[in-house]
Amino acid sequence: MAFTRATGKHRRASRTARTTRNIAGIATLAASGVVASVASPALAATDEAAHHDTGLQQAVVVGDELAGRIEAQADAQQAAAEAAAAKAKAEAEAKRRAEEARKKAEAERAAKERAAREAERKRLNTFVAPVDGSYVSTPYKASSGLWSSGSHTGIDFHAAYGTSVHAVGSGTVVEAGWGGAYGNNIVVKMNDGTYTQYGHLLSIGVSVGQPVTPGQQIALSGNTGNTTGPHLHFEARTGPRYGSDIDPVAYLRSHGVDV
Ligand SMILES: [Zn+2]
Repeated sequence: MAFTRATGKHRRASRTARTTRNIAGIATLAASGVVASVASPALAATDEAAHHDTGLQQAVVVGDELAGRIEAQADAQQAAAEAAAAKAKAEAEAKRRAEEARKKAEAERAAKERAAREAERKRLNTFVAPVDGSYVSTPYKASSGLWSSGSHTGIDFHAAYGTSVHAVGSGTVVEAGWGGAYGNNIVVKMNDGTYTQYGHLLSIGVSVGQPVTPGQQIALSGNTGNTTGPHLHFEARTGPRYGSDIDPVAYLRSHGVDV
């Protein structure tokens, strides 16, 4: 027999199977009488026998080549499948890496935005005391016949006549003028929606509608309205009107002011 085709290591198993199949094929030919003539001594030396033998060999070789081609085709298909799988794996990996990079960039962008927002919030919410280097001379809710409510609706900052008065934070002036018992007064609507009021002013340096920033001078303190001496009356409110007052010390402290 002519099993002459070189085969790779990985083909051994299938080659054995193929060989077995070929042997089975020869056995079938023998049973049908084709090979029987080869085994016959009377015909062994004849051209006919040689012809038979050659024909059989050719048939087997052709069968082997066919099987080889099928196997080669299967190998090629497997190689293609493996290449496709490797390509898919590489693509999946590239996709995963791209997604990872995208997520990282997204996280960095979000962190940057958060930092910017925080800085802006801080800038807008940086509060200062309305009078530099002063102290609270009359506390919130102190009772006295001096006030119509019988209780202090704000706090008084000690301030000599003509002391600079600052907006405590960012906002817009909503009232600037005479305020009865408050004398000359200013009300600012803060950017956070609360209100601050500055009373008993000597002079007013801003007008309604004007935006103010933390620490900006808006007035000079004085002794106008219902007072017993120069000082700054400061109120914090949830609304623009009298009676919506909240604790000014707690308000300023909540905005980081040391009072
Ligand atoms: Zn007061």
